[in-house]
Amino acid sequence: MTDFGLEIWGDDNFIIKNDTININHASQPSLLEITQKIRKKGYKGPLLLRFPHLIEKQISTLFTTFEKAKKAFDYQGNFQAVFPLKVNQFPNFIKSLIDISKPYNYGLEAGSKAELIIAMAKTPLGAPITVNGFKDKEMISLCFIAAKMGHNITVTIEGLGELETIIAVNKTFNANTQTPIAPKIGVRIRLHSSGIGIWAKSGGYSSKFGLTSTELLEAYEMLKKDDLLNHLWMIHFHIGSQMSEINPLKKALREAGNIYAELKKRGANALGAINIGGGLAVEYSQHKGETQRNYSLQEFANDVVFLMQEIAKSKGVAQPDIFTESGRFIAASHSVLIAPVLELFSQEYHEKGLRLKEKNPPLIEELHDLYCSMSRRDAREYLHDALDHMESLLTLFDLGYIDLEDRSNTEILVNLIIKKAIALLQSEATEELKKLQDRIQEKYLVNFSAFQSLPDFWGLAQHFPIVPLNKLNKKPSNPASIWDISCDSDGEIGFNRNLPLYLHDIDVNKEEYFLAFFLTGAYQEVLGMKHNLFTHPTEAIIHFDTEGNYTIDKLIEAQNLMDVLDDLDYDTNSIDNTLKYRIEASVQLSDDEKRALLSKLYLYLSENSYLKTANALDNTIDKDK
Ligand SMILES: *Cc1c(COP(=O)(O)O)cnc(C)c1O
Repeated sequence: MTDFGLEIWGDDNFIIKNDTININHASQPSLLEITQKIRKKGYKGPLLLRFPHLIEKQISTLFTTFEKAKKAFDYQGNFQAVFPLKVNQFPNFIKSLIDISKPYNYGLEAGSKAELIIAMAKTPLGAPITVNGFKDKEMISLCFIAAKMGHNITVTIEGLGELETIIAVNKTFNANTQTPIAPKIGVRIRLHSSGIGIWAKSGGYSSKFGLTSTELLEAYEMLKKDDLLNHLWMIHFHIGSQMSEINPLKKALREAGNIYAELKKRGANALGAINIGGGLAVEYSQHKGETQRNYSLQEFANDVVFLMQEIAKSKGVAQPDIFTESGRFIAASHSVLIAPVLELFSQEYHEKGLRLKEKNPPLIEELHDLYCSMSRRDAREYLHDALDHMESLLTLFDLGYIDLEDRSNTEILVNLIIKKAIALLQSEATEELKKLQDRIQEKYLVNFSAFQSLPDFWGLAQHFPIVPLNKLNKKPSNPASIWDISCDSDGEIGFNRNLPLYLHDIDVNKEEYFLAFFLTGAYQEVLGMKHNLFTHPTEAIIHFDTEGNYTIDKLIEAQNLMDVLDDLDYDTNSIDNTLKYRIEASVQLSDDEKRALLSKLYLYLSENSYLKTANALDNTIDKDK
């Protein structure tokens, strides 16, 4: 793997040029150049870069693909879409999304009161808002307020209790008006088919959400009785996120389509839309044999349009508007997390660590010869010899015949031999060689928190593509595992010999080396947790102007230490006073020392939790300033 699977997960968004990975857009700057520009301003630690042009690409791809399918089938309904806020509510993301999506009449989906407030404030009037999830009287009242503001809002009922509340709230909001205004009403249906994959719990009989067919009939009667049937406008389902196969969607579409047609024939005349929820998958795989999606967006769109049309035609009802609430598909590609490598943990197995003597034990001399003279032809044989010699040498050490330096030389030489043999024999990945890779894997300590920035890796073993920012003209040789800086052994992306990640052999004291984690724009940011009090990383928007040049906008630095504590409701004034008092009251310190310590302390308190200086190289950079 030399292109790090870019052609599998990259979707032409990035391109390898010379030795760097670049943005495949406009002036095609490298991620390394952007990273260095931001670090020069003094921002250290991990960086989250957002690319609005990739949000735009996803939205326009979604709309054009569905328009194409509609045209192909001469479909009579409209296509509309909303972005589900739970996927990413961060203001820098939402602002870009709203700015970009104006031409599409794209709206927002809310699943809680706070999300609803974002939707009410940020969705342009007229663009659709859908409201899902469990709702109380207050949340339903907010939906009525939104409708009265002029919003095009649909409140989806998840159960009959919610419908009762809607009926009650409607009475209070519209009691004394000539022109009653209420939100449109949607019903979420409980599918008997269910989704597939690790997120599949959202659909199916055991789902938390939705009405059974018996409840649907009851809801119909309730709406009719209370004169709200003319507000029932949408049938909704959501079969779960990251749908790996298309078949469950087809089943759900047939179910939902027939429910739509049946209710319409019964007299629900205002019914006019099917909302297919989210679930459109993103390809995260870096390895050919492990792809995560068996359909294209066009196939997805064709299936939706074709099936809805077929059902509508056969039951003689109008073809419904089609709504999607795809979130992952829209947001995942827009952000890249970039984090510096701080240290390599098997540096001791470097050639420069050897302490060869004038006269070495014969087996060590032989190891050294094997290492120096190994070629592709004899690599396997030499490898076996080396492993055999190592056993003997370790036994000799246990028996007291060789010393600690000899033992260290043995370990280094055998490691170097394994590495060299694996590199020479790379084309024949036998089980034996794969196993040996575990043994020589290099641990890369990386300045980020997996809990904060890749929570789905921690919780669901979701893989995110990893690529170094430079050296991409050289074949990486180290089987790599990645350690974050949290004090938790779960913060490790281990080497997997069946889906291996190789990184370059570098000396972090001499050169910088950054890793980029891609497709982190969906779910990761808000699910991220402050384990060890590592917070959301420093972020910036990379914006391309009409000439194709880029600017670094809206830089927001990771929270400083006191703000983190303030978020936990610590009394930060009292912490501040205590720290100050303990320095000032110390009898061991002179006044000058106190002053110096205080100014250092306040400098550190103004910074964030991530490591700032990590190695000799960083120190020299700091001195240069
Ligand atoms: C989570 C959710 C979505 C978004 O799903 P994706 O897989 O991210 O597209 C859409 N609709 C509802 C109701 C959801 O709960």
